[in-house]
Amino acid sequence: MNVLVINAGSSSLKYQLLNVETHTLLAKGICERVGSDEAFHKHGLDENEVVIDAKMADHDEAMALVLESLTSGPTKAIDSLDEIDAVGHRIVQGGKYFPRSVVIDDDVVAKIDELAELAPLHNKAALMGIHACRKHMPGIPMVAVFDTSFFQTLSPRAYMYPLPYELYEKYGIRKYGAHGTSHRYISERAAAVLDEPLEDLKLITCHLGNGCSMSAIDHGIAVDTSMGLTPLDGLMMGTRCGAVDPAVVPFLMEHENLSTAEVNDLMNKKSGLLGISGISNDLRSVKDASEQGHERAQLAYDMYSYSVKKYIGQYIAVMGGVDAIVLTAGVGENCEKMRRMIFSGLQPLGIVLDEERNRLRGGERVISTDDSPVSILVVPTNEEYMIARDTFELVHQ
Ligand code: AMP
Repeated sequence: MNVLVINAGSSSLKYQLLNVETHTLLAKGICERVGSDEAFHKHGLDENEVVIDAKMADHDEAMALVLESLTSGPTKAIDSLDEIDAVGHRIVQGGKYFPRSVVIDDDVVAKIDELAELAPLHNKAALMGIHACRKHMPGIPMVAVFDTSFFQTLSPRAYMYPLPYELYEKYGIRKYGAHGTSHRYISERAAAVLDEPLEDLKLITCHLGNGCSMSAIDHGIAVDTSMGLTPLDGLMMGTRCGAVDPAVVPFLMEHENLSTAEVNDLMNKKSGLLGISGISNDLRSVKDASEQGHERAQLAYDMYSYSVKKYIGQYIAVMGGVDAIVLTAGVGENCEKMRRMIFSGLQPLGIVLDEERNRLRGGERVISTDDSPVSILVVPTNEEYMIARDTFELVHQ
């Protein structure tokens, strides 16, 4: 069964076509800067990738281009749209309505729209993707997979904010988390690598990329996570500040004369590694600069690792221990220096990194010493596979 996985952002449309039964990636690509004069479309697998300047006024036109590239031209992956059996959509905010993935119908569309207040850019973009698919592939079964579903198991003491309770009732202000599909995937894979049932393990999962989040998964159930009402909370990220004293917000608005949109922009797009280093949101550039003695780059690097370390401590306390810590995404998978800094000094907690294994590259792997009471694993994430698998399972019911 072939599933087209769609991840629509406000000005982008990412896609993968996967055969779920054979675990084969048939095609992938992205339309970027949709709606602007600089729009372009990348399509194809690895060295066969082509980049095409293409006019796309909106997601509807982008989707038409994607379907054309999948079925025609030198990079075509299938002969006709009939070979696409279902579509899986990544949706950022599922709120309280969606503790699991669902088949999309009019009611689901209406709820995704209603929830857009909590994730304005993302949910509206996802809806554009859904509408475009409905138009170009009428009647095709579609499934919505939510970033927040995995964290619907959190208990109220973990997801509530100590604000007036009425605000929770009125607006649904609470922790929802994000990156849930990634945390779900790497927790399952970690159990497989350790050859133990997920239900027997206490895991701390760390998605460390440009966006960063961590979660505590106690016997297969997510009990806490670092992102909150929105993906701004928690760890320091590429351009996002993560958790800061909330009093900073009114202070900045008053002293810098900022509007709500401006302060939001500052915390989402100008903070994190970029804000502290003044160089880049990309950890590789920050690392290079810090090794050449750039003090603010060094500080940014230190702060990033320190913020991960603090959450490890929190989640060990929350679960009363940990069996394994799992790392994924650009930094977690690739940056040996950051991993060394995160785990330095944690030996008294039974967390012992193996220096040699930490240097090696590869796919799923254990990087702790054989006698480390807590295992440390690297697991490349694969959110698209999870979305395709959920889609397959729901459509086949
Ligand atoms: P992601 O959001 O998962 O694509 O991750 C992007 C982040 O991973 C960026 O900050 C990159 O600098 C970082 N990254 C990717 N490869 C490496 C590497 N080899 N060493 C350090 N950071 C890396």
